[in-house]
Amino acid sequence: MTFSTSITSPPALETGALLTIDLGAIVSNWRHLAERASPAECAAVVKANAYGCGITRVAGALSAAGAKTFFVAHAFEGREARQAAPDAAIYVLNGLPPGGAAEMAADRLRPVLGSMAEIEDWSINGDAHPAAIHVDTGMNRLGLSHEEAKVVAERHASGRLGFSPSLFMSHLACADDPEHPLNALQLDRFRQARALFPQVPASLANSAATHQGGDWRFDLCRPGIALYGGNPYVGSANPMRPVVRLEARVIQVREAAAGDTVGYGATQRLTRRSQLAILSIGYADGYFRLAGSSDAKAGAEAVIAGKRCPLVGRISMDLMAVDITDAPAVRRGDMAVLLGEGIDVDEVAAHAQTIGYEVLTDLGRRYHRIYRPA
Ligand SMILES: *Cc1c(COP(=O)(O)O)cnc(C)c1O
Repeated sequence: MTFSTSITSPPALETGALLTIDLGAIVSNWRHLAERASPAECAAVVKANAYGCGITRVAGALSAAGAKTFFVAHAFEGREARQAAPDAAIYVLNGLPPGGAAEMAADRLRPVLGSMAEIEDWSINGDAHPAAIHVDTGMNRLGLSHEEAKVVAERHASGRLGFSPSLFMSHLACADDPEHPLNALQLDRFRQARALFPQVPASLANSAATHQGGDWRFDLCRPGIALYGGNPYVGSANPMRPVVRLEARVIQVREAAAGDTVGYGATQRLTRRSQLAILSIGYADGYFRLAGSSDAKAGAEAVIAGKRCPLVGRISMDLMAVDITDAPAVRRGDMAVLLGEGIDVDEVAAHAQTIGYEVLTDLGRRYHRIYRPA
C-alpha cells in the first residue's frame, strides 16, 4: 500500500521523526460516534488543525465518509476546511471578531455567536447567512446568559433578529466525568433555554456526551478528541481506535557507566552500566519536556524493537535518551515508537501533567508526516 505524504512536511531522511496519521481510524471513530449520535447528526470538530492531525486531510476524509457539518475555532481554519468540504456547514466556535461579519458571510462560514455584541454585528447579514447561537449553561466561557437568550428569542419571534439561527448550542464542562453533578444541571438549563427556540436545531454534546448518547444527543453532536483516538472519559478503558503513531530515529547508541548522569541538569544517575539510545526528537517537536525522567520521577516510555524502554534524564530541545539495556540489539537508524504500540496520547499526557488534547495539538511541524488513506 502506498501512503501519501503532506507536501509541507520535510523529507523522511532529513527529519528525526515520522508522524503517521491514520485517516481510516479517524473515519472509523467518526462512524462509531455517528452510530451513538443517531438519529441526531454527527458533526466533526476540526479546530486547531484537526487536533494537530491536519485539517484539510481530516475534513476531506470525513466529508467523503458523509460528515456534513464541521466546527473550527477561527475563520481561517474554516476556509481551510472549506477547501476539503465545499458543501459542508462550517461553524466558527470563537465567533465573530469586530468588523469580521461581511467577510465571514462571503466565505459562507457560520459564526457561533456568544454575546449580544456578536448578535448585533451579524444581524447586518440577513437571512441568507445563518449562524449559531451559543448559550452558557455553566461553563462561564462563551455564550449568552439565559436572560440574553430570552431577548434574542423575542427578536427572532417578531422577525427583528436580522438573521436566521441555524443552530442553538451550549458546551459541557465535565462530560468526561459522567458522575459530575454539573452535567445534569447543564442539561436542565440547556433544555430550558432551547425551549425559547423551538424551531432551531440544538446541540450540546462533545465527544464524551456523544459517546453516552441518550438525552445528550439533541439534533447535532460535536465530537472532537474521540475522533483522534483520545479517550473521551477520564480513568476508564478507551473505546476509540488510535490515530497517531510517532516514531523517532535512533541516531546514536552509547554505553554509560554506573554512577554516570544523563542529560542537562544531571537529574538522573544510572544505577548500573547502561546502554542508551539517543533519539532525534525533543521538546522543540512538541514532545513535552515534563515527560522526561529524573531520580525522583519515572518519565514516559518508548517502544524499541518491541520492548518498552524508559526515557532517561531531561528531554532536550532536539534530543532525548532512552535506556535500552534490557532491549534486544538496537542500532543507529532504528526507530523508537513514542506514540503507538500501546502508548496512547493519554499515557504521554499523564507523564507530562497534561491531557491527550494538548499532546495532539502540540504535535510538531518538524516531523515527516505520512497519511494512511481512509
Ligand atoms: C472543542 C469543542 C468541542 C469538542 O470537544 P471534545 O471534548 O474534543 O469532543 C465541542 N464543542 C465546543 C464548543 C468545543 O469548543
